[in-house]
Amino acid sequence: MSKKITIAIDGFSSTGKSTLAKQLANKLGYVYVDTGAMYRAVTLYAMQKEYISADFFNKEALIKALPKIKLQFIFNSDLGFGEMFLNDSNVEKQIRKIEVSGFVSKVAEISEVRSKLVEQQQEMGKNKGIVMDGRDIGTVVFPEAELKIFMNATASTRAQRRYDELQAKGDQVTYEAVLKNVEERDYIDTHRADSPLIVAEDATEIDNSNLSRDEQFDLVIALVNEVTKTL
Ligand code: C5P
Repeated sequence: MSKKITIAIDGFSSTGKSTLAKQLANKLGYVYVDTGAMYRAVTLYAMQKEYISADFFNKEALIKALPKIKLQFIFNSDLGFGEMFLNDSNVEKQIRKIEVSGFVSKVAEISEVRSKLVEQQQEMGKNKGIVMDGRDIGTVVFPEAELKIFMNATASTRAQRRYDELQAKGDQVTYEAVLKNVEERDYIDTHRADSPLIVAEDATEIDNSNLSRDEQFDLVIALVNEVTKTL
């Protein structure tokens, strides 16, 4: 058994980071952590408490409430990954809705939110053997990760994938609304002051616009093997 490493997967919205991360975690027997789910759960909390709406955001109230927000991943063996629990309620389905996607990047701009979540993420990964996906994993959460992947694809490819996913779940959304959300999140995520989405110097960039899931997986497994053989 080769030595366990930390795998950081960053990239733009809907680039298939979580699909790849789950495939890797299954293959390697690693823990998978979807950090986007954590930012989404904090956003859902802010929506439930009416701290955020289309034209209003009471950031101070959310910052004050942060100690009351308990986030946990609880492993679901049927699904093969940990589902997101917010204050002991399973919110896995709710956090994927487009309404949450509409606010999440505004919540993720807040430094106090980021430092709380980053601390939990670092704790989860302290023993390595982890695949974590997000926007700042290779740059902020685990700058020492042995393998860093940065994923991209054209905005239209990404919006089409997300649209198909939401349709399959029965969400009534238009392709245009999904594309607009993807582009807005890209903009906020790359322009925020704290931990913007950037490519880590030592990351391998993958544009998967024209790659199948299997092709992408094979490519990344080859990278994992290359890294682990040098340890
Ligand atoms: O990965 P996902 O698209 O679910 O992430 C939702 C949002 O959470 C992102 O658009 C981004 O604003 C925020 N996020 C972040 N840092 C992370 C993970 C997600 O800012 N590590």
